[in-house]
Amino acid sequence: MRVSELRGASFARVKAIIAPCLLLIAALGPATSLMILRIDQNASFIPKDPVYRTLLTIFPLSTFLLAVLLVQARYRIRLLQAKEAEAVQSAGLDPLSKLPNRLSFDFLLETAMDRSTLELPIALFAIDIDHFKTINDTYGHQAGDQLIVGIAERIRRVIRDRDCLARVGGDEFSLMLAEVTSASQCAAMAHRLHDAMLAPFDTGDMQIFATLSIGVALSPQDGEARSVLMAAADLALYRAKHEGRNRFAFFDKTMEQKLHLDMTIEDDLREAIKADALTILYQPQISGSTGRLCGVEALVRWHHPRLGMISPEEFVPLAESRGLIGPLGEWVLRRACTDSRRWPSLRMAVNVSPVQFRNRGFVETVRLIIAESGIEPQRLELELTEGVLIQDADQAESVIMDLRAQGIRMGLDDFGSGYSSMIYLRRFAFDKIKIDKALLASMECSGEGAIIVDSIISLGHALGLTVTAEGVEQKDQVEFLQKLGCDELQGFYFSAPLPADEIDTMLSLEVWTQENAAMNASVSAA
Ligand code: C2E
Ligand code: CA
Ligand code: CA
Repeated sequence: MRVSELRGASFARVKAIIAPCLLLIAALGPATSLMILRIDQNASFIPKDPVYRTLLTIFPLSTFLLAVLLVQARYRIRLLQAKEAEAVQSAGLDPLSKLPNRLSFDFLLETAMDRSTLELPIALFAIDIDHFKTINDTYGHQAGDQLIVGIAERIRRVIRDRDCLARVGGDEFSLMLAEVTSASQCAAMAHRLHDAMLAPFDTGDMQIFATLSIGVALSPQDGEARSVLMAAADLALYRAKHEGRNRFAFFDKTMEQKLHLDMTIEDDLREAIKADALTILYQPQISGSTGRLCGVEALVRWHHPRLGMISPEEFVPLAESRGLIGPLGEWVLRRACTDSRRWPSLRMAVNVSPVQFRNRGFVETVRLIIAESGIEPQRLELELTEGVLIQDADQAESVIMDLRAQGIRMGLDDFGSGYSSMIYLRRFAFDKIKIDKALLASMECSGEGAIIVDSIISLGHALGLTVTAEGVEQKDQVEFLQKLGCDELQGFYFSAPLPADEIDTMLSLEVWTQENAAMNASVSAA
């Protein structure tokens, strides 16, 4: 405490004693004079003049009234001061979690950074609740709010008094550890935070499990300015999420380079879409019963001029996060529908990313492209993954219905890889399920994998759906799947994804049988 503050405090104490004394005098004065007037009207010290007598009565009375007014004013000022203090306090706190908000955290962080040294740095943890949006959409905003309060409480329990936790965004917390002695101290804290989330959270009548992704950066090592340190922690958080969430990552310099690369790739991808520089390969789908080619799946490819071939598994998520999935998806759909005119006997399957599916105007875009290319909508099959259905079921249902109303077929991709809930199959009107290739790889024709594949095929058929198995690589898998009555087969055993010209050639062979497929496979192996 500073000297001026000490002086202020003692002055306040003096005021606290003097004020009631003055009030007492103001009240006692008139009371005494009134009493005297009443007791002995003829006392020698009381003037006989009526004017003086009146003044003697009025003067103390007015002093009394003045004192009352003073007390009232003082009370009002106190009330105003209390409200002001409350407002100032709440301006620095997040109303839901009662933790410091971003504004006050920024101030505290900057103050702590001023004192940090290379030997005793401070650590900034950027903490994000995994899949919070899905939790909010699934369980409702009230449950989401309760979860935030619960998580804040659990984190508070595992940190020390001198650490500072703040809620800096919807599902984001910032934690500052002062005077960090080693990186392992930060790692231990991150483990404690993860452990604190292990038990489920009670939100009314539901139990919710939550996990955290955490990015850690140190100051002054990773940034001497507040904004630089925060960007470093955010980059580390990005890495933690990218590596599968429910984990933590420390910032390192290569992350900046990676971000820079992502940004260059983003520009290049934008250009490639505009300049028609992407290509599509088509992977044959074979009828399980006839062994004939019955459809193809469109799989996009990008040959980067400097970096070579980049997998769709890398650039589709990039396109999703950088707002490019709309143009990319539209480009693929338009090209696939145009190519499909060459193969009137085949169905055309096109993958739709969840972000693209949720874009407003998606249904209309599909309608326009079908009209433009002139293909029969019944030949187009859009493949969705479960992610679409979990995030906003009502919206997904209505979009699926709109697409089906146009005659388009809907397929559920990668079935068996996620939750694979039967509820999805009952609720959403799919025409087809595609058994995930990982499930097929685990199938040893007699083990558990085989039982699951068998059940999925039976379930699909019981619901009147077409069942496709993808990732078919071996002859015994083909025989097993055919025995189970699997409708369509797709995989390297038959063919890798091919350029459109090669599909033309394949169709020019009169029939596509398993024998020439196997022959094809052995030729390409050679
Ligand atoms: P997916 O939809 O599950 O596509 C099947 C993937 O499995 C393809 O990989 C295909 O080349 C590969 N594959 C085919 N047969 C076999 C096999 O026998 N064994 C194995 N191990 N793999 C096989 P690709 O082309 O690299 O595509 C990967 C993923 O990228 C696709 O998975 C799909 O989710 C996404 N993708 C591809 N093209 C597009 C697109 O145009 N739009 C969107 N949104 N996503 C796309
Ligand atoms: Ca697919
Ligand atoms: Ca798939």
